Amino acid sequence: MRVLVGTTNPGKLREIRHILGEVPGITWLTPHDVPCPEVPETGPTFAANARLKAQTIAIATGYATLAEDSGLAVDALGGAPGVRSARYAGDPPDPAANNRKLLAALAGATDRRAHFRTVAALALPDGRVWTAEGVLEGTIAEAPRGHGGFGYDPLFIPAGERRTLAEMSPAEKDAISHRRRALEGLRPVLAALGEDG
Ligand code: IMP
Repeated sequence: MRVLVGTTNPGKLREIRHILGEVPGITWLTPHDVPCPEVPETGPTFAANARLKAQTIAIATGYATLAEDSGLAVDALGGAPGVRSARYAGDPPDPAANNRKLLAALAGATDRRAHFRTVAALALPDGRVWTAEGVLEGTIAEAPRGHGGFGYDPLFIPAGERRTLAEMSPAEKDAISHRRRALEGLRPVLAALGEDG
């Protein structure tokens, strides 16, 4: 079965492909292979947005579609930036500006706990849809560190680590990430679809 990875975010695309690797019976497609509609993230939750993206793209393209919605929730900010993570500092998305705004919002804060959340959704053109969630707990650094990853990675220190995600290798991030945990939840569904052909 051909499965379209429905994201144009290059960081997400790279991580999703590395995390899932080869799944027997599945041929991966990307928006480079199949033109995908841009789906506005209008839902109130990561789960609603992930389903909306996967189902809209599956129906528009006719391909089984894997999509995800993700973001950062900071305890001291009442869960912000949350579903607005990509556009926290305005539209179009600007990761450096987002990180500056986050540091300013947390200036002087001692409670710097936060978590990343991903909801991954797999939708078939016939209307079936599966979702799975992954969370990574951590804290927000005092200043950006490292050049790996994308988005808020230079500010996010996973629980039990001293380094930010951006200071870790791609394989180290992928081993523990919220994205890994969400995608592993969908692996059995992908494996079954691959077996069915
Ligand atoms: P969306 O899922 O397209 O709404 O965008 C999610 C946004 O959350 C990204 O643009 C990043 O700002 C942030 N984000 C999601 N996952 C990660 C991650 O693994 N590292 C750093 N930032 C992330």
